[in-house]
Amino acid sequence: MQFRDLHRQYAAMKAEMEQVLLQTAASGSYIMGETVSDLEQQLADYVGVKHCITCASGTDALRLALMVWGIGTGDAVFVPDFTFFASAEVIALEGATPVFVDVNKEDYTIDVDDLTEKIQFVEKHTDLRPAAVMAVDLFGCPADYSKLQVICKNHGLLLLEDGAQGFGGSRDARRACSFGDIGTTSFFPAKPLGCYGDGGALFTDNDDWTSLLRSLRVHGKGVDKYDNVRIGLNSRLDTLQAAVLQVKLKYFDTELDAVNRVAKLYNELLQGKVTTPVLSPAVTSSWAQYTIQSPERDNLQSRLKAANIPSAVYYPRTMSQQQAFAELRQEPCLVAECLTQTVLSLPMHPYLSDEEIQMITTTI
Ligand SMILES: *Cc1c(COP(=O)(O)O)cnc(C)c1O
Repeated sequence: MQFRDLHRQYAAMKAEMEQVLLQTAASGSYIMGETVSDLEQQLADYVGVKHCITCASGTDALRLALMVWGIGTGDAVFVPDFTFFASAEVIALEGATPVFVDVNKEDYTIDVDDLTEKIQFVEKHTDLRPAAVMAVDLFGCPADYSKLQVICKNHGLLLLEDGAQGFGGSRDARRACSFGDIGTTSFFPAKPLGCYGDGGALFTDNDDWTSLLRSLRVHGKGVDKYDNVRIGLNSRLDTLQAAVLQVKLKYFDTELDAVNRVAKLYNELLQGKVTTPVLSPAVTSSWAQYTIQSPERDNLQSRLKAANIPSAVYYPRTMSQQQAFAELRQEPCLVAECLTQTVLSLPMHPYLSDEEIQMITTTI
């Protein structure tokens, strides 16, 4: 059994995929091009925003958003303490200060009450300029954006949605990656919509930011790539990855239905045995991970391993506990720290069979 079975996914779309892979190989054009701009239009339509700008990874997408906003030294960016390292890393990489915020125990997204307290603390007691909130759609669940939008408006903050795990999910009938002033996603193979390497994208309704992003991803190009008007990055999406994503996008809604069916079955079969995810009724998750909580986590994980069932701890450390952030010395986020001890992610993908789910839940 696989944690996320990419072989079965490949088998499900093999003929069509092999055709586009060979076509692209034979085309002799491998970076950007029409396939990439077509994909950007399809992704923007899917998410329900005006513009999609693809780039080389989900990490670059976050970094590019901060670059467009001119966020750097002296700026505070509020980010959940419980997330993948890249969310907080890019803030520090741009010279700004990540301020870690606790998360909800039920759905793992940013705790809006703690966010308000942290913003007030930075406003009153530090020399930092509160600049932006980066909310993360952790494990596929969009954060509480109606509340986040109000908080950001009241405090004059920009809102960045890290939808690396959230692509395909929705909240109040709006799709993930459409909630922030800019939303980003990742096409890393194991994400809800994955390609066959690295890739990422930004989503926004803002025309000016879009032109700036299209320049920044190609060395700050002006009229052409040998006219460089600002400092940028090399962060383009390969044509091959765009072609792969176009095929995968055709199967994506069916896959979303499938992971939601898996999650429902897990919830039913694990009810009362371990803590299962509790999502707001307004939310549809893209189930990047199906994550349970148990005080017996380590024991549970070794029993699963003995039965050849893969599982994973996302995440074993909070951001404040990472050595890379040791010098920030921020107050501990108690829920986040507790979660590092109790969370366990189970096999989750659209091709998981009922028999496999039965076997996993029986073992638990
Ligand atoms: C995967 C991930 C990223 C980074 O995406 P890459 O494409 O691997 O660079 C950022 N944030 C979160 C929450 C992620 O899960």
